Amino acid sequence: MCGITGIMAPGRDAARLAYFGLYALQHRGQESAGIAAADGGTIRSHKDMGLIGAIFDEELLGQLSGHIAVGHTRYSTTGSSVVVNAQPLLESTEIGDFAFAHNGNLTNTDELREALSPTTTLQATSDSEVMAKTIVEAPGTMLDRIKHVLGVARGAYSIVLCTKDELYAFRDPWGVRPLCIGTFPDGGYAVASESCALPTIGAQYMREVERGEVIRITSQGMESHRVVREDARPATCMFEYIYFARPDSTLNGRSIYMARYAMGRELAKEHPVDADVVMAIPDSAVPGGIGYATESGLPYIEGLIKNRYIGRTFISPDQNMRSRGVQLKFNPVIENLQGQRVVVVDDSIVRGTTTPRIVNLLREAGAKEVHLRITSPPIKHPCYLGVDMATYDELIAANYTIEEIRLKTGADSLGYLSLNGLIAATGRKREEMCLGCLTGTYPNVPLAHEPREDVG
Ligand code: 5GP
Ligand code: MG
Repeated sequence: MCGITGIMAPGRDAARLAYFGLYALQHRGQESAGIAAADGGTIRSHKDMGLIGAIFDEELLGQLSGHIAVGHTRYSTTGSSVVVNAQPLLESTEIGDFAFAHNGNLTNTDELREALSPTTTLQATSDSEVMAKTIVEAPGTMLDRIKHVLGVARGAYSIVLCTKDELYAFRDPWGVRPLCIGTFPDGGYAVASESCALPTIGAQYMREVERGEVIRITSQGMESHRVVREDARPATCMFEYIYFARPDSTLNGRSIYMARYAMGRELAKEHPVDADVVMAIPDSAVPGGIGYATESGLPYIEGLIKNRYIGRTFISPDQNMRSRGVQLKFNPVIENLQGQRVVVVDDSIVRGTTTPRIVNLLREAGAKEVHLRITSPPIKHPCYLGVDMATYDELIAANYTIEEIRLKTGADSLGYLSLNGLIAATGRKREEMCLGCLTGTYPNVPLAHEPREDVG
């Protein structure tokens, strides 16, 4: 998973706009970040490990001059966590240099790698570099090369790319990962993984980049091109709705907040329980928790306070601190929990390692009963399209029944939202979503990954 942004803002400092755009997309990846800027003649870039705010200062941003920029914030899925895998990637071709930033995960990287010239050397371990080299080796103009890539690359890829004087934005023919475009009132365009980044930089939402669409933007304006693939069907990632996207983003015309709120309401209908209060695990489950409380008529309380500053630290806690587990991140509001029968809404159970600790923390704080309610169906299958979702061995719902999971979490009851309830809450049609992690059926993954049988 990653966040990307692209800026074309004649007369303005594009790197600064990209920097604030990445700030709004920081939730999509905290491992490394970078910005490349172009001024019509030269592309300059800087990238490093860590959070966007820690990587850049005035001086570094000042060096990235120009009215065009692309930016990336990374959460590694394929390729290890080292700076050579940070993006944007810079490449040279006989028609000029380009900078490239990718969100998603390819599913035919090996095939693309084998198609590269034997003299091509790869520095990184990521699928993104293989894709960038495919552009380097393709014939024709930059637009021709990008269209070629859309014809041969399978998997998930939302991409921003800049040359010395153009900005491109394109999305795989399945439309797995989000990408949208906005305009600046005084001229120019901004592209971002999620719409929440646009108001942050003063841009107005225009529309999504369509699946299989290549947008080319110059200082003269924007053009749209289409690549149609017979083997592609729409397949928006459901996990964007469940967990990943920010609630103040819009996907396919529907607010993520309202989709999660509707998931919570539906969950209350499907799994009601005799209880006193409803709480959510902050931050991602809050809209769902409020939805559950509204539908059930129970009061919504804050049962856990999350430390905003803990983030993803590169200093690992010592053994004693690790055993305290979730206490690094959450403190209970004892006064809200003591003696109460508590409905606890969370968005997902993936590995099932943090959930039992949270249930335990709530019990220690005095909760009399803990009723877990999850605004997604059980996650039974890995993701091959860009979410770091773990393997079959690690996924708790791939290996245990719902009753076994309840026992492992220590909850008094456990209820998951149904697949139909989830789909209805998003306002989408089942056939236009990727539901791979929930059903084991993927839109564009080679059959080498056979889904495993359900345990129940
Ligand atoms: P588990 O019990 O599976 O260890 O943790 C479940 C929690 O992990 C949920 O609160 C959910 O919001 C969160 N979660 C789900 N997917 C991801 C992810 O891709 N990255 C991170 N950091 N947390 C996730
Ligand atoms: Mg969570």
